[in-house]
Amino acid sequence: MGRILIIGAGGVGNVAAHKCAARPEVFDYICLASRTKSKCDAIKEKIKRNVGRDDIVTDQLDADDPNQVAAMIKKHNVETVLNVALPYQDLSIMKGCLMAGANYIDTANYEPPEEAKFCYKWQWDMHDDFKKAGLTALLGSGFDPGVTSVFTAYALKHELDEIHYLDIVDANAGDHGHPFATNFNPEINIREITQRGKYWEDGQWKETDPLSVHKTFDFPSIGDKEMYLMYHEELECLTKHIPTIKRARFWMTFSENYLNHLRVLQNVGMTRIDEVEYEGHKIVPLKFLKALLPDPGTLGVNYTGKTCIGCILEGVKDGQPKAVFIYNVCDHAQCFKEVEAQAVSYTTGVPAMIGTKMIVEKKWQGPGVFNMEEFDPDPFMNDLNLYGLPWQIKRF
Ligand code: NDP
Repeated sequence: MGRILIIGAGGVGNVAAHKCAARPEVFDYICLASRTKSKCDAIKEKIKRNVGRDDIVTDQLDADDPNQVAAMIKKHNVETVLNVALPYQDLSIMKGCLMAGANYIDTANYEPPEEAKFCYKWQWDMHDDFKKAGLTALLGSGFDPGVTSVFTAYALKHELDEIHYLDIVDANAGDHGHPFATNFNPEINIREITQRGKYWEDGQWKETDPLSVHKTFDFPSIGDKEMYLMYHEELECLTKHIPTIKRARFWMTFSENYLNHLRVLQNVGMTRIDEVEYEGHKIVPLKFLKALLPDPGTLGVNYTGKTCIGCILEGVKDGQPKAVFIYNVCDHAQCFKEVEAQAVSYTTGVPAMIGTKMIVEKKWQGPGVFNMEEFDPDPFMNDLNLYGLPWQIKRF
């Protein structure tokens, strides 16, 4: 039986808390804490309505302060912390876990607020500290990163002797009815999309202009969609841990409408992350834009359509070339019916719960700092089928 602290009460926090609450045999004590306690209380009410569980505890903390994180862990006597706040808080929450003796799980790697540059180095540097403390940190337990690493590990265990080419494809063919909105935190999302593209080929990183490389792909249950090459964090850990990979790329679909809005916002300076002077105040344009855009947690109400995310893996099996496509299809309206969320929050919150469950049940154990592909994929793949994200496989 696990006692957990979930930090962050946004779109992903709502789904993760619902899914943990629905497994009382695994999570017998759940504290949901965030910067704004009223958001935790609102999720508690939803859980009462949707899951019928009334014992979720809520609290308030500023997770930028490791001392507050450590105090919260001790106050609620929890063994494991699920971080679904923002990437900016990763290091302070990890430090708080080390101070108070708790395991750690997140869904996105650390990114310094002043520079749009995410990478695993800062968190991997804490490996020895976690190891010495006998604690486990599991990095990137969302869908991408997260399930994409588990799909890759599964292919290596069951389908291929060696992986040579990896293409991660991510489509959202949903319609939320707003002219422009992002499906997770707008600030983090826009920082990621406006970066230069990057992929791994023949032992080195190759860069492209932002969203300049694209092609059409026929997604299962969706059909043809234009997808764009982007840099994504699991490319870093997968090419490190699976050195036979010769080329690894990440692709995401965007509509023309979305790209047009983004271009205009960039052109007028609204996506800048440096401070500008405005009527005697300092403001960061992207943070101001976030305040104007719809809250991703509220998009689910009339959202229709599906997402499809998966891995195309090519390599060899028994000396013969072989390729597989492992993927999940998720329906926005179904997610809303179950947990009052859209599919992007859902496809992140469910793996966040499963990763936490793996640690609580000791099916995945350290000690140290680990990425998802370093553990046995089978129990995780099994839980995806049981808890709302069934996967399918095509062989070529
Ligand atoms: P939201 O912005 O909706 O929610 C973030 C939450 O964190 C808010 O409740 C916010 O509080 C809280 N928070 C922010 N700063 C602090 C702080 N200093 N202390 C305590 N709480 C804080 O984001 P999402 O739910 O959309 O995303 C959550 C995470 O999931 C992000 O890291 C994102 O990158 C990741 N993600 C991962 C994906 C994957 O597949 N791996 C896909 C999608 C998202 P407040 O309400 O007061 O602002």
